[in-house]
Amino acid sequence: GPDRDDESFANDDAFIQSYYGASASKALSIDEQRRQLPAYSHRRQLLYAIETHSVVIVVGEPGSGKSTQLPQYLYEAGWAANGKTIACTQPRRIAAAMLAQRVSQEMGVDLGTTVGYSVRFSDAFSPETTRIKYLTDGTLIRECLTDPLLSAYSVIMVDEAQDRSIATDMLLALLKKILRKRKNDLRVVISSASLDAERFKAYFDSPDLGSTGISTIMTISGRLFPVDTHYLAAPCENYLLAAVETVLKIHKSEPAGDILVFLPGKDDIARALADTLESAHDNGQLESMLLLPLSAGLSPEEQRQVFDPAPLGKRKVVFSTNVAETSVTIDGIVYVVDCGFVKQCVFDPEAGIDKLIVEATSKSSATQRAGRAGRTRPGKVYRLYTHDAYKSGLFQRHDMPEVCRLSLAPMVLTLMALGVSNLVRFDFFQPPPPELLAQALEHLTSLSAIEPRQAKLSPEFGIYLAELPLDPKLGACLLNAAQKFSCVREALAAVAMLAIGDDPFVVPSGQRAEAEEDKRDFMVQEGDVLTLVNALVAYQGTPTKLRPRWCRMHFLNSRILEQADRVSRQLESYLRRMGHASKLRQSCGQDFARLQKCLVSGLFANAAKLEADGSYRPLRGGEREGPALWIHPSSVLFTASTKPRFVVFAEAMETTKLYMRGITSIDSSWLAEVAPHYYSVK
Ligand code: ADP
Repeated sequence: GPDRDDESFANDDAFIQSYYGASASKALSIDEQRRQLPAYSHRRQLLYAIETHSVVIVVGEPGSGKSTQLPQYLYEAGWAANGKTIACTQPRRIAAAMLAQRVSQEMGVDLGTTVGYSVRFSDAFSPETTRIKYLTDGTLIRECLTDPLLSAYSVIMVDEAQDRSIATDMLLALLKKILRKRKNDLRVVISSASLDAERFKAYFDSPDLGSTGISTIMTISGRLFPVDTHYLAAPCENYLLAAVETVLKIHKSEPAGDILVFLPGKDDIARALADTLESAHDNGQLESMLLLPLSAGLSPEEQRQVFDPAPLGKRKVVFSTNVAETSVTIDGIVYVVDCGFVKQCVFDPEAGIDKLIVEATSKSSATQRAGRAGRTRPGKVYRLYTHDAYKSGLFQRHDMPEVCRLSLAPMVLTLMALGVSNLVRFDFFQPPPPELLAQALEHLTSLSAIEPRQAKLSPEFGIYLAELPLDPKLGACLLNAAQKFSCVREALAAVAMLAIGDDPFVVPSGQRAEAEEDKRDFMVQEGDVLTLVNALVAYQGTPTKLRPRWCRMHFLNSRILEQADRVSRQLESYLRRMGHASKLRQSCGQDFARLQKCLVSGLFANAAKLEADGSYRPLRGGEREGPALWIHPSSVLFTASTKPRFVVFAEAMETTKLYMRGITSIDSSWLAEVAPHYYSVK
């Protein structure tokens, strides 16, 4: 069929209104803005559908008002009466926080009161007053551990269902189970930007939920203006460079309108932002531009800036991960620059490692990204690849759902904690590949989370592991630190830093040498994790008031360390509840081996051995030889004169090579000592 990009979605009335209203729209009151959204004209229809059906599937273009308006319509119609709450789930943390902020503003209430949010490691809500709650789907699933029927909620809206994250799939399955018991007092709304609606309907319209016709599909007719698609004439070598050049070109030669740039990850965003800043400065264009990042980990102030109209005479340029693809909508975007890549996690079950890879987006993603340019008037998309590349097999039609490409260990652990013992008979939205399920069971068994050959959690360890809001590997490190290795203080620091995954060491341009010099104060030859632990422990030992200055002095990012400190204190409270209060101050001191062994106890599946060419091979590579792994250039071991013979790593990331990050040197004998079921003693 024809590419959707070439079709026109123009709708004349809306066009005239928003095209001519564009400059005036800043003056529109929030109520007027709300009434202009496509969702508004469907308000009564939507409420009627929800009144009469247990499950309503809402389809509509991104930006039509599903995430911000639907929960408010429900609230206004009384669905949050009797102390019940309306939930709206998001696959991405940053989206949940931003939506809560916007909706509290629209309703004129303080964030955390009537409108709140809850995501891993951060929340703002009160069980007594919060009536509209934005959460990640993972967080809502975790709430099932204490409230199995999710009885706190009257309506649960599963937003961005087309994203098909593992947590979304799992939530759909749990909601189907819950509906059997709450057919009369729970409503489920599934919202999706694309055309999977029939599939969601078929899943819920099953005989075991009683009658058919329990669900219905509603379409919000969107408005989208034509978007002109530009491709590169020849492939580019470096999409970052191309992105920067394209932004500057647009700014120089195109009429007013903001620019949205899609890049794979945070690192790319920081680089592109710095490079654009530098070039624009050199060209004298900087005065007329406002450059902003949009990715996880922004402060509320930075989040707000992304949506605020740029000051008069300035063009806003937002560098974003694919969170701006459908989850959040920024008004005023007329130009989209799409690098064509996305960062995705892929699990290699044979080698047993998670890989973060940067790969071509799907065609449906490319279409969504382009659509962001045509929301308020005709726009342009600049794709940083050739038309031939787009037509080639490189760009898949759709993204593969996560349940087919990620490690299922976290999901299996949670399902078991929720009492699902027979995974084969579980009513998955889409059954995962059997080899991934088998691997998850094997991995959880090797972590001692489940009893060997039994589909149930091990009495203490497994149950506690499921409660920790951590990847089971990291959770195991933390529990083992308390139970076996007496290094809780350091393990908390290590796990908090790894869970956040951000590098706190800043390298300001022009001061590279000083920054490297300072990093050396924390650096240890045992590798990255122990270096991070040193930095965080030193930060925690600095009086609160002096911390920002101390961070500047040592070239450390104080926001990342502050967040890590908060996470480590949250994890501490979990340990306290699990009866480890007396062990929280346990430190391994200079006896690093205790911490290293503790890390091995969780990360043993990510163990690798040095090869002659300086690469590493996974120690357990299944049948075939595992992939070659390299030390990431940002690792403290990258420049080490002698490389450790054996290491464990926190994650592997594939860009030009398959790089290991978060590396710790180990003694090979520890593998058999700490993980005997996994590594037999030779
Ligand atoms: P959908 O869920 O259908 O994609 P949304 O409800 O997210 O649509 O967006 C509707 C409108 O609300 C858009 O015009 C968008 O610009 C605006 N909006 C959403 N989030 C924010 C925010 N955090 N700040 C300002 N405006 C926002």
